[in-house]
Amino acid sequence: MKTSTRTFPFRKTAACPASATLLSFRSDSLSAEATTLVKDHLEICDFCSAELPLLAHHAVGAERGLKTPEIPLDLRILAESILSRR
Ligand SMILES: [Zn+2]
Repeated sequence: MKTSTRTFPFRKTAACPASATLLSFRSDSLSAEATTLVKDHLEICDFCSAELPLLAHHAVGAERGLKTPEIPLDLRILAESILSRR
């Protein structure tokens, strides 16, 4: 078993940036100062280093999910007829 000198547990700590911050970091939309802070944190935090690619994967999925599916035409006609009945 390999001994690690790191004392950070493999979980979110109080020092960890929020997921939203990590996402902003990934899309380069943080200020230069914040980017440096996140970079420094990623070097010492295995959890956030592991979370970053996961967030990226999730973000792509969320982008794809942005388009709401069309309501089927027959269902729409039914809904409209029920709603206009009053
Ligand atoms: Zn962290």
